[in-house]
Amino acid sequence: MSKSHAAMCVYCGEAVIYDTREVTDMAAAHAKIVEHDQQCPRNPLVSRIAHLEQLTSDRLELVTATTDRALALETALAESTRILREILQGEKLQFSRRIQICSWADHLDALTNMEAPHG
Ligand SMILES: [Zn+2]
Repeated sequence: MSKSHAAMCVYCGEAVIYDTREVTDMAAAHAKIVEHDQQCPRNPLVSRIAHLEQLTSDRLELVTATTDRALALETALAESTRILREILQGEKLQFSRRIQICSWADHLDALTNMEAPHG
């Protein structure tokens, strides 16, 4: 074991023993300790990344919910605009009918007030 070394996690001390005479063994040990390092529970970066990922996920959820609400509001707004247009159209129709009735009434008045021609 005189030619062996250990690659060690600086956070928790987990070690991978490797043979310094074998380059492939060293590379494998290095890869293994890097892999461990990326998910070591004692690595502050791991929890920091998890925290940031959670924040990102929460924000994304919020954006999605807000977008859904905005779309629902847009639909409701379009619907109420359509209803208002219908009401306005109805009012316009009634208004034009009233004007028509008034003009007929005026016409009738004019006819009844017409004096008989003097003979
Ligand atoms: Zn570790």
